[in-house]
Amino acid sequence: DTEVLRKPKWIRVKAPTSKGYAETRKIVKDKGLVTVCEEAACPNIGECWEKSHATFMILGEICTRACAFCNVSTGLPQALDADEPQKIAEAVVEMKLKHVVITSVDRDDLADGGAQHFVEVIEAIRASSPRTTIEILTPDFLRKNGATETVIDARPDVFNHNLETVPRLYLKIRPGARYFHSLRLLQKVKERDPSQFTKSGLMVGLGETKEEIMQVMDDMRSAGIDFLTIGQYLQPTRKHAKVDRFVTPEEFKSYETIARAKGFLMVSSSPLTRSSYHADSDFAQLRAA
Ligand code: SF4
Ligand code: SF4
Repeated sequence: DTEVLRKPKWIRVKAPTSKGYAETRKIVKDKGLVTVCEEAACPNIGECWEKSHATFMILGEICTRACAFCNVSTGLPQALDADEPQKIAEAVVEMKLKHVVITSVDRDDLADGGAQHFVEVIEAIRASSPRTTIEILTPDFLRKNGATETVIDARPDVFNHNLETVPRLYLKIRPGARYFHSLRLLQKVKERDPSQFTKSGLMVGLGETKEEIMQVMDDMRSAGIDFLTIGQYLQPTRKHAKVDRFVTPEEFKSYETIARAKGFLMVSSSPLTRSSYHADSDFAQLRAA
């Protein structure tokens, strides 16, 4: 059946027209940087870019995986851009970012999965913006021995890796990944450097049950994960996994209440929450608290 569910009224986004949006866009274009905001066709781009909050995507625009929810192109990956760390560091200075989020495609083709490149980006930002806090959203480094440790030792402030969905749906939604491997990755971060905050996220509306969401929250807390994001899955194109249902704002609110009771330090749960949504202001609030 090819029927697509209509979007409910609470999935409304602001058209990107502001001056701030145009300025962010210009810096991104002039430096030739890639953002997940554009690659994932994120519905929040108008709101985030207006406030200079863009999430940079490193290691190229082509991913070696093909997750059923993701709009990033799959194929033969590109050579690494050795100037990318410097270009991102310059953009962070120009955009006067207090908090920056760096993510990447998955690079199963590279021996270290791109770990060293992550380190170089972190070091370049630290060198020119020592007060900027750095949040990384990494691939799972599956079968890349030592890669996770390499990145942990570069000491980002927030180490984020998304579990994305409940374990039962992995084969369908995230076929190249392994639920317990991803969970273990975040646990390793906490074990190796407890001063780093760990973060993970889930998309809902893919066919998971409420009980399964509760179980994932418990698994996350057992692995010591500090921050949680939960957002509505939206189908990027008809070729991607279908939306099973639209979770109501009230249900998102109840997940937030439950997650806080389970001990997460920071929770964002709403229809348009994305992994990097409000990451800057939420983190600033937490540090001030
Ligand atoms: Fe970019 Fe994240 Fe904002 Fe979306 S939520 S526009 S990906 S910073
Ligand atoms: Fe998209 Fe990441 Fe999956 Fe690649 S690994 S297809 S970038 S979600």
